[in-house]
Parts: sequence; structure tokens; C-alpha cells
Amino acid sequence: MNTQTATQFNEILDKKGYKCLGWANGWNSLPLELKKCIHLEHNRTRVEHNRRGSDTTIYCGECKIYYSVDSSD
Ligand SMILES: [Zn+2]
Repeated sequence: MNTQTATQFNEILDKKGYKCLGWANGWNSLPLELKKCIHLEHNRTRVEHNRRGSDTTIYCGECKIYYSVDSSD
């Protein structure tokens, strides 16, 4: 189980040169970077920071992008 907070986790990704795409819930349309990632059929890693799934980071190690999802609603 991951004991880091979402903020700590995302900071580590920032330091590794990942680009933050923000909260998926706030998007009107998919960011270009993510469209590309989906098109290339990459395996994106999902990290849930709490049990409710209300604070989840999804990242792609190949595209070096990440975004947050609130899947509790
Ligand atoms: Zn990707």
C-alpha cells in the first residue's frame, strides 16, 4: 500500500520530469498528450492515494505525463 500523499507522489513525478495534466474531472476534452498516449496503447499506472479512490494519480512512464482523478463521484 502506498503511504505517500498524492502531493508527495506528484512532486516526485515532477522531479523526474513528468508533465502534469491536472485533474481529469476538470477537462472539457482530453489533453493532446493523453490522446497520443491512448493512441500508442501505453500501459498507464494507476495509484490510489486513499481507499475511496477520490485522490488517484495516473501516469505514463513512456510519455512522462500524469494526471489526477477523483473517481469517487
Ligand atoms: Zn504514454
